[in-house]
Order: sequence, then structure tokens, then C-alpha cells
Amino acid sequence: MKQPLGTLLVVSGPSGSGKTTLCRRATENGLCVYSISCTTRRPRSGEVDGVDYHFLTAAEFAARVERGDFLEYAEVHGNRYGTLKADILNLLEQGKNVVMDIDVQGAEQIRACVDGILPKCYTDVYIYVPQEELRNRLCGRQTDEDEVISLRLRNAAREDACLPRYQYCLVSSDRETDYAAFAALLKCQSMRVALMRE
Ligand code: 5GP
Repeated sequence: MKQPLGTLLVVSGPSGSGKTTLCRRATENGLCVYSISCTTRRPRSGEVDGVDYHFLTAAEFAARVERGDFLEYAEVHGNRYGTLKADILNLLEQGKNVVMDIDVQGAEQIRACVDGILPKCYTDVYIYVPQEELRNRLCGRQTDEDEVISLRLRNAAREDACLPRYQYCLVSSDRETDYAAFAALLKCQSMRVALMRE
């Protein structure tokens, strides 16, 4: 039997939903590869270029858009974010499962791709957190200013409206329960018959 294609799990949810942690942990546990996005936002303390993101200037980002390098790109919270096309397709072809931590606009763009292997590999999950719980989490992590937190809460309500577009919804509770559900979903998706090659 030939090596099956990898599955592409797109993970969205508001800032503070824990989606990055879920994706990173699954990657560390060898279940998948993390898709490293490009962004024009400044690195937060502790973030490393080429690990957390490829940090680009606005001009560098625009040049890559111009070259058609992105599978999807969007403006989120006033900064630009995008996923590099070549990296993802190579990994899926090699049978690697890929997790992509992207916003609802990016997910919509990937759903719209009808050519090649993407429609076969694609699956998505929305990490849902009730508003009050989300406010507590964003205030607790103390990485962002009050103004930024308010913006993120307003954006969260807008993002939640896109939940019906997703195949799966993970209602966030505690870290361990969330991770168990996430890892199980990834495992199931990687077993889809659609990923097998003749
Ligand atoms: P943060 O700045 O907190 O790391 O991410 C802000 C938002 O941008 C999150 O919702 C995250 O999922 C989203 N994001 C990160 N990378 C990408 C990307 O490559 N494309 C899109 N569309 N959104 C992204």
C-alpha cells in the first residue's frame, strides 16, 4: 500500500481559546507538523522567528502576496498573516499531518480551494469558548494591553458567528480534556479512506 496523504487540520477559534497550545502540543507529541505562518505583527516576548512565525515587514509580506506564495492570507487584529503554499503541499504529499492555526477568513479561503489534493486532505475544527471565560483567560495571560484585549473580545464574537462553517466544534473546558479531544480528532482524520492513494 502506498503512503497515504497527510491530513490538513485547520484550527480556528478566538484569541485565548488555546488553539496554538493544542497545535503545538500535538506537534511536540509527533502527531503532526505545525504550519508556521508569516506575519507582520511584532514578536511577543519569547517568540522566535522561524519557530512561532516568520516575522516579515509589511513590504516583505506584500512582495510575497504579489508572487502568489500564499495559500491564504488575511488581516487579523490590524496585522497581516499568511500561510506559505509550497510548505503545506509538500508535507501533505509526504504523508505528514499538518495543523494550521489560522483565523476564520483564512479557513474560508482554503475551503474554497477545489484543485489538487487540498479538498481530500482538508478538515477543520473551531475551538469555542464562552465570552466570559474568554475574557478571564485573555486578562490572565497579561501579554496584551487592555485596548488589545477589548479588540480581541469584539473579534471573538465575530469569529464565533462563523462556527457553522466548520466540520467540528471543540467546546473548550480544561487543558487536558481539550487536548485529549484534539489528539483523538487528529488521529481519526488521518485514518480517512479519502487519504489513501491507488
Ligand atoms: P496571534 O497574533 O495571537 O498569534 O494570532 C492572531 C490571529 O491570527 C489568530 O486567530 C491566529 O489563528 C491567526 N493567524 C495566525 N496565523 C495565521 C495565518 O497564517 N493566516 C490567517 N488567516 N490567520 C492566522
